[in-house]
Amino acid sequence: MDYYNNILETIGNTPMVKLNKITSDVPALVLAKVESFNPGNSIKDRMALKMVEDAEKSGLLKPGGTIIECTSGNTGMGIALAAVVKGYKCIFTSSDKQSKEKFDILRAMGAEVIVCPTNVTPDDPRSYYSVAEKLSKEIPNSFWANQYDNHSNTVAHYESTGPEIWEQTEGKITHLVVGVGTGGTISGTGKYLKEKNPNIKIWGVDTYGSVFKKYHETGEFDEKEIYPYITEGIGEDILPKNVDFGVIDYFEKVSDKDAAVLARRLAKEEGLFMGYSAGSAIGGVLQLKDKLTKDDVVVVILHDHGSRYVGKIYNDDWMRDRGFLESDFTIADLIRRK
Ligand code: PMP
Repeated sequence: MDYYNNILETIGNTPMVKLNKITSDVPALVLAKVESFNPGNSIKDRMALKMVEDAEKSGLLKPGGTIIECTSGNTGMGIALAAVVKGYKCIFTSSDKQSKEKFDILRAMGAEVIVCPTNVTPDDPRSYYSVAEKLSKEIPNSFWANQYDNHSNTVAHYESTGPEIWEQTEGKITHLVVGVGTGGTISGTGKYLKEKNPNIKIWGVDTYGSVFKKYHETGEFDEKEIYPYITEGIGEDILPKNVDFGVIDYFEKVSDKDAAVLARRLAKEEGLFMGYSAGSAIGGVLQLKDKLTKDDVVVVILHDHGSRYVGKIYNDDWMRDRGFLESDFTIADLIRRK
């Protein structure tokens, strides 16, 4: 008989799919690592399981305990899967800019979700970081996973995502393009790949309104870079410990509009129904196409599934309200026309 002992055993080993139309004027071979194939529909299942397992091993998480996390949904989904199988309770804090669908999904998995305001500073007592920290101090037998600073996040990608990409490309990968939020994906995957071949370029994708690119290029934490943005899952107003800036060669910023337009094109042109940040990652590849040659093999990570964004980027009214439908031009189109 061919079966898994539980749903957690199905995490990882996601497919790599060649992009054909959307990258038609990129000279390189572009391969998408389609992370929506994970059971929680996102790459974050990998690190969620690793954080839970490592906390069990170190004694931070004990039988019957409560896992607390600040999450925009995907990490919560992964933790909830682990909690259901292993018998823990979950409380998640999230920000009110996230898709309502994400909260409903977490509640369907038995988790409690506390929605906090988005536009407050991280140290404000109402922020989703502060609320998670407070709960972890107040609730007995609780464990705050803290994906931003918990190194198990990076290690999960060093141990699984990196080796998978190396094997799937038979060591031929030349560039990795990844959206950066906590930094776990790019830092763990990038570190593994650079150890295999230091010539591999690791490109991070950032949003306008986030501090990463400027900090990477100048070493300056510039508060002027911080303003509200709509893209979900990438960009930060803090520097998480999981971002290993030394592994990253270059950051490219992709706008909210371009990411939304490109996610919609991924569905229509490639049959890949993916999340908002997948559009950002594709935008990164298209905006940087002049740095690529026909001999390059680019792997772009698509973090999550489109179902969580049906009320947003896949809704024409939502797009129109933000002026995102008015023209199909993206920065990548303008570069193409140059
Ligand atoms: N895209 C989505 C949809 C995400 O949920 C996340 C996680 N915040 C990312 C990209 C970025 O991944 P990481 O946190 O590993 O940098």
